[in-house]
Amino acid sequence: VEGTRTGRCIIKPSRFNLVVGLSGGRKFLLNTLSGAADLVPAETAARLSAGGAGPADESDAFLVARRYLLKDDVDEATFVEKFYPASLQDTRRKMPLHCIAILSFDCNLRCAYCWQQHRSTQAAGRTMTREQADAMIASVPTLMRCLTVDGNQPPLMHLFGGEPLLAENREVVAHILERCATLGWPVQITTNGKTLPEYRELIERHGVAEVQVTVDGPDEIHDRRRIGSRFAELMDSIDRLVEGETVMVKMRVNVDSDNAAFLPELANAVIDRQWYTSRKFYAYVAPLRDASMADFGLIRNRAKLLGTLLLMKECHPQMEIFDFLGWDGYTAVRNLENQGVFPYPKTHVCEANLNQVVFVPDGHLHLCAEEAHDPDGIVGRYWPDLTVDPAAFSRWYDLSPLDLPSCRDCSILPLCGGGCQLLTRQPEFRRHYCDAVRKSLETGLAWLGPAADEGDVP
Ligand code: SF4
Ligand code: SF4
Repeated sequence: VEGTRTGRCIIKPSRFNLVVGLSGGRKFLLNTLSGAADLVPAETAARLSAGGAGPADESDAFLVARRYLLKDDVDEATFVEKFYPASLQDTRRKMPLHCIAILSFDCNLRCAYCWQQHRSTQAAGRTMTREQADAMIASVPTLMRCLTVDGNQPPLMHLFGGEPLLAENREVVAHILERCATLGWPVQITTNGKTLPEYRELIERHGVAEVQVTVDGPDEIHDRRRIGSRFAELMDSIDRLVEGETVMVKMRVNVDSDNAAFLPELANAVIDRQWYTSRKFYAYVAPLRDASMADFGLIRNRAKLLGTLLLMKECHPQMEIFDFLGWDGYTAVRNLENQGVFPYPKTHVCEANLNQVVFVPDGHLHLCAEEAHDPDGIVGRYWPDLTVDPAAFSRWYDLSPLDLPSCRDCSILPLCGGGCQLLTRQPEFRRHYCDAVRKSLETGLAWLGPAADEGDVP
């Protein structure tokens, strides 16, 4: 410990320290800003929990080096104020423009849990026309010039909905795929997979980079939740796409307490088809969420569900085939487990702060796909002409995690970033969300603790 005031350095604790208790009395000590993560004896954690301020002694050298304790002249608050905007710009500069094309809000399934059905009425029935698709593509160079993007990367075109691959969308889908192939723009499609047999040839011919399909469980579990979809048919469609090896196939499983118990069986079905042998296949489970934020049930149960799944993975090793995404808080633990470090601080609230632009079929631009039905989220038009409302645009694009009063003083802000801009309208939901983030982080660390003790974490 260097530097002196009265012979010894004066130190103070960082406000980004977090202590998580493990079984056996050990503690996980984290600093979410510096990225330090250490297993420490209970006394060390107690020293920090007690405040840690005052003259440093030799035993504090480790805590100072790892930024749990700061020298008195370190102004952490000022550092954060400067670091956040600079880091956000840096993140943007490394990313391409991400164009989300909502071809229509309609869908050919009626999933039991879908919140979109409840709010799609006003926009339903409109489909992006060929002329609008051309206007969308024509707007891209201007948008790339106006936003902070990596201009060396081609823009990413993402077909989304509703369901983008409806039978009646075929002409506009073919047109967009053809134009993107000519321009050298990669295309992603998020689909329920119902019409994959009819679209597969088109997808492969135009070199679509990635198709994400949702499968919710084996047999009748899937059919009961994804009303209108047939598990056996869907698995055969995925099979043919994986076999073709031209497209990255992502399989997403929306999980809640209703289908969690069936994941080992679903993993067996994937293993039977040997999709894991393809480098172009990836499967993940994600917690079912209600983006309408009307019901707190799912968010309140999110961390408990994670604990159940981690336990199941111990008992059913075939579940290793699934990555776990979407548990905010736990994502950082996955980083620590796989790469030996916590993720770099997240200085954006969500994708709406990055280079994501959403094109909806009535010609409007939004920055968030989840509220693309909502006139409050309009930031401009791409059709008939490109116009942007600077104030509306900036409200989404420039919102910093530091602008969120409930997040500013949160010790896990650098891991969470505030989660979702829509939470600013839902303080009650945010309370449950924060609880889920913290508990998901703690649940993940509690599982990681023994592995870290045994040296299995790099
Ligand atoms: S959303 Fe909650 S957990 Fe996330 S940074 Fe804000 S206060 Fe913290
Ligand atoms: S505001 Fe929420 S729903 Fe919209 S892009 Fe951000 S995280 Fe997603």
